[in-house]
Formats: sequence, C-alpha cells, structure tokens
Amino acid sequence: MRVDVVTIFPDYLAPLELSLVGKAREAGLLDVRVHDLRDWTSDRHRTVDDTPLGGGAGMVMRPDVWGAALDELLAPAGAPGPADGGVELLVPTPSGEVFTQRTAERLAERAHLVLACGRYEGIDARVAEHYRDRGVAVTEISIGDYVLNGGEVAALVVVEAVARLLPGVLGNPESLTEESHGASGLLEYPVYTRPVEWRGLVAPEVLLSGHHARIARWRRDQALERTAVRRPDLLAALGPESLDRHDRAV
Ligand code: SAM
Repeated sequence: MRVDVVTIFPDYLAPLELSLVGKAREAGLLDVRVHDLRDWTSDRHRTVDDTPLGGGAGMVMRPDVWGAALDELLAPAGAPGPADGGVELLVPTPSGEVFTQRTAERLAERAHLVLACGRYEGIDARVAEHYRDRGVAVTEISIGDYVLNGGEVAALVVVEAVARLLPGVLGNPESLTEESHGASGLLEYPVYTRPVEWRGLVAPEVLLSGHHARIARWRRDQALERTAVRRPDLLAALGPESLDRHDRAV
C-alpha cells in the first residue's frame, strides 16, 4: 500500500518511522511518503491560508494550494488511479464521519491513501467537493468528538490502524482475531501475564488450568460483561444470532 500524507508540519509524522509501521516500511509492505504542503505554494512567503470568506475568527487553508498538491499525488505516474478504485482521499476533520475499525478494514483494501492534514479553521470546503466531483473516493474523517489543532494526529491514527491490518505487518496475525472492535462485536476480555501474584492481586485461576474450553468460555463471559458495563451501545447493536445460550445468561 502507498500512503501520501500532506501537512505543513512534516516532522509531526516522524513516529511513522517507528515500531511496526516503521518495520512495515522497511520490509516494503508499506510505502509512506510525507510531503510539505508549502512545496506547492507559488509566492515568496509560501502562503497556505487566507482569511475566511464571510468573516470570523482564524484562517482557512487555500484551495489552490491544496489543489496543486492533490492533483499531483492523486494521479502519480504508474500508481493506481481513481478509475480502478485504488486511491482514496482522506480529509481529517472533526465534522467528518467517525473513524472506526470498520473504516480501517475498508481502507486496508485500498492500494493508495492520500491524507490531507488541515490546520487553522480547516481546508476550504471546495477541495473535498472538487475531488468527489472528479470521481475520486473522498472521506472526511473524524477520529472522535473533540477538536485537535491539526490533522496530523488523525493521520497517525489512521495510518497505524490501517497498517496493522495489512498482511505481514503483525508478527502473529492471530492477534487480530479476538481484539476489541473485531468480528465478535465485543470489547476484548482482560489479559494477564506473569507473575501470577502481583501486589496481592492474583490472576484468575482458570487461566492457569490449561483447560482450553473453560478458558475460552471465561474469556467470552468477561468480554460480554466488560462490553455491557463500558460500551452498552456495542452490546445493543449485536443481533441475537451473535449470542449463544451461555451468553444470554451472563
Ligand atoms: N474549525 C473546525 C471545526 O470546528 O470543525 C476545526 C478545525 S481544527 C482546529 C484544525 C484541523 O485539525 C482540522 O482541519 C482537521 O484537520 C484537524 N482535526 C481537528 N480535530 C479533529 C478530529 N476530531 N478528527 C480529525 N481531524 C481533526
């Protein structure tokens, strides 16, 4: 997968060189390129913003500068283009659709993602409109109901969540099967390791039993309880077919 991130603070994306994402890049599983939006400016001051039409506080990012950058990055020579559905433009914004594990799974199927990191009061609304009109898949994406200073943290969230789903990125792909927000629709059960007793707290005895069926049942019950307490909305969204006879008794 190729990922282009456009920002006025390229250094903000340095964590993409670390840990699993960094290793995936080194292994050639992920081609991440971070670009400085100011490289597409044409004035001496490398201006990317202007005052909001209609008045009001703050500054708005100019569509002409973003247009120059995105024209180039959405159709790089030899890369998959809009026609084959390989590329998706992601515009982080607190007014976007909320980014979830389902979104990450969907994006992991893409050959190419382009992330446009806004700053100030955001990017002129015509940018997303223009690329949609041109047939590009565009998603305005929010990472939660709060306001950040810029789209860079959102870009880090999206790239990490998507990258770990790509084949070969996680050392043990089984890590993905029982996770929170996965196929079961439940939060993950609590996890423990050695020492068995720590500061007077003893890990659940069942986990030491070696009895796989009992452990699986205990974990399922814990996942149900935890979801019921912490995220009743997730439990309510599960269809009856997702629950077995034992589940209903929990
Ligand atoms: N004026 C905008 C509003 O009220 O919707 C907020 C702009 S915010 C200060 C600047 C930039 O931060 C946005 O353009 C976006 O790139 C990013 N941003 C802020 N909060 C975000 C969130 N919850 N999810 C994704 N991106 C966010």
